[in-house]
Amino acid sequence: MRRPLIAGNWKMNLGRSEAIALATKVAAGVRRDDVDVAVYPPAIWVTDAADHVVGSNIIVGAQNCSPHERGAYTGEISAWQIAEVASSVLIGHSERRHKLGETDNVVRSKIDAALAAGITPVFCVGETPNVRNRTGEYVPYVMEQVRSSMSERSYDEITRMVVAYEPVWAIGTGVAATPADAQEMTAAIRLAIDGIAPGAGERVRILYGGSVTPANAAELLAQPDVDGALVGGASLNAADFLAIVEAAPRRI
Ligand code: PEP
Repeated sequence: MRRPLIAGNWKMNLGRSEAIALATKVAAGVRRDDVDVAVYPPAIWVTDAADHVVGSNIIVGAQNCSPHERGAYTGEISAWQIAEVASSVLIGHSERRHKLGETDNVVRSKIDAALAAGITPVFCVGETPNVRNRTGEYVPYVMEQVRSSMSERSYDEITRMVVAYEPVWAIGTGVAATPADAQEMTAAIRLAIDGIAPGAGERVRILYGGSVTPANAAELLAQPDVDGALVGGASLNAADFLAIVEAAPRRI
């Protein structure tokens, strides 16, 4: 049985004291021991957040890593550096793909780096509004994104990954995918993973992300192939984020 995972992407928000306060409130407020909860603060506050969730089961991660291990890459942070203070990293978020020009090849290299460093890559995929409007194309498009970064990997590597399906048209727009749309794509992603490493599809957690709120979380999370949520805006408010954690179905 896959354990639900609720993850908060704080993006480029919050000052240091705000980040510490939010991490502290989340750590103190989680009531479920059958759900994994993760937060992804801005890189500069990852250590502060990690220090303030000690003693809880909150997972702390970074929002990005370099594909390179070390060297002359000013401003970059490598996966092994993240591994010294945190245990996970978001990779291929649509804002990095579409605002910062990150390609599938770069995304793949970053996943390589995260796996080599022993941290969990949360690999984000999702179609743009244009692709969504081309009936019959959006499912194969996302399945191809999955294959481009997951193929030619061992079963062990694949099952150390988490995938987040985040349709670009739903991120930060207030228009979430319908539960049926989220289910359609997460099931297709699971199929694509299984095609790469038979049996792995059942094991990999696949999250839905895009305008998840306390109001729509329960219905989205109840879908059989939706194993959790990647939450942006609503993760900046402890009460809202904790309500989304509470909305996870009791599966184990
Ligand atoms: C995100 O940034 O990953 C996200 C899903 O944002 P929001 O919940 O605000 O749509």
